[in-house]
Amino acid sequence: MMNEVFCKQEIKKITIPTPFAVGDVHTYVIISEKVTLVDAGVKTHQAWGIFQDELLKHGLKVMDIDQVIVTHHHPDHVGLLDYLPSNIPVFGHKRAHPWMTQDLRYFSSHEQYYKKLFKEMGVEERFYPVLATVDKPLRFSCRRGLTSFVSDGDKLDGLPGWRIIETPGHASSHIVLFDEKSGTLIGGDLILADISPNPLVEPPYLGEVDRKKAMLDYVQSIEKMNLLAIKRVLPGHGKVVEDVSALLATRLKQQEKRAKKVVDFVTKQPSSAYEICQYLFSSVYEKQLLLTLSETLGQIDYLLDKDLIIENNDTTPFTYQVGVIKE
Ligand SMILES: [Zn+2]
Repeated sequence: MMNEVFCKQEIKKITIPTPFAVGDVHTYVIISEKVTLVDAGVKTHQAWGIFQDELLKHGLKVMDIDQVIVTHHHPDHVGLLDYLPSNIPVFGHKRAHPWMTQDLRYFSSHEQYYKKLFKEMGVEERFYPVLATVDKPLRFSCRRGLTSFVSDGDKLDGLPGWRIIETPGHASSHIVLFDEKSGTLIGGDLILADISPNPLVEPPYLGEVDRKKAMLDYVQSIEKMNLLAIKRVLPGHGKVVEDVSALLATRLKQQEKRAKKVVDFVTKQPSSAYEICQYLFSSVYEKQLLLTLSETLGQIDYLLDKDLIIENNDTTPFTYQVGVIKE
């Protein structure tokens, strides 16, 4: 058996273009006792070609990959799995599974769920056609599930030193990989240098009644990262983050600032989520409706949790106003 101490380890970054606004996505190959691929780009022919070319530059072929782990289920992180040999094991959080398999039992409830949500939020009817396109980006995703589920604290065979940490928020399936010894975190979309990751709304899973409160989860995940001695983050997008604690503090501050803006707005008059969204994102909400509504809902969840606002939900749309301030 190979001793952990003597196992040399290398990390190679492979950058792949995506058709999404976010731009390129980074995947990482950790060469250790086994060859582990972290995340697997979008499913386009261009991405597949570039992925193979880049692997070759590192002296590797697709067949050399022993296992894959995905940080979360979004198409830009899992799509290329469809092109990889089907016998390669794929690890990830169990909440990634229904998205990755595109489970119809789950997806058939989406349109109806979002419609109800739009009504509760007070979204104008002219935007209802958007509902039919919500799951469109999935054509760049895979149709292949996980072979094993991982959760907080787990380690993968052949990947000594690395530990899995659950970090829901941007996606409820989000995990990161941390190597304590080097202080390296492979962070998926949790910690990005230039973008504050959007806490995307996910319809409740089969057997669940409520959606997850993505913003509350995100804030908790960031606070969890604050407890680790992270020296550098290898992100899913953008440049490597080295001043990690400063960036985490900035992200929490930005969140507080936006939440305060919402409180100020609803202090003037009780407002629907849609009105809050229009106020927060006046120039982009029409073009980026789902993203901005998700972000708005996130702020509302956050403020409700802190008892800083209250919800009137007797009639639709629901409205929000200032509640009793908890000291
Ligand atoms: Zn991403």
